[in-house]
Amino acid sequence: MDDCIFCKIARGEIPSKKVYEDDEIFAFHDINPQAPVHFMMIPKRHIASLAGATMEDAGVLGRMMALSGRLAREQGLPDGYRTIINTGRIGRQEVMHLHLHVLGGPEPLGRMMPRPGA
Ligand code: AMP
Ligand code: ZN
Repeated sequence: MDDCIFCKIARGEIPSKKVYEDDEIFAFHDINPQAPVHFMMIPKRHIASLAGATMEDAGVLGRMMALSGRLAREQGLPDGYRTIINTGRIGRQEVMHLHLHVLGGPEPLGRMMPRPGA
């Protein structure tokens, strides 16, 4: 995807604070962190959203999940973390290139979801 910001980050055309890279996965710190540690893992190949993923994507998506613990530990999260994939309009996905948020810090995070109206 030529005009996708995360494709450009994965190709190194837009600078990012890189956490990890291999043939099919790229990880980088969120520009607007929501926790003391907040990075994102993306497939290098453009997948717009989890809602549109197919069985062809299962391998890379599984590897992203399986790698998250190692990267979280390397980023200073030995006691756990939260993963989030926002999907589509209802999930308030802003960047239409599937990304796995990894968030954590020294203290437990807030509630998983705000109370309605909060
Ligand atoms: P989402 O709402 O799940 O689509 O999240 C998109 C995330 O991308 C937000 O947390 C943004 O802060 C983050 N973001 C947007 N542009 C960049 C960028 N150039 N580098 C790093 N993170 C970004
Ligand atoms: Zn993309």
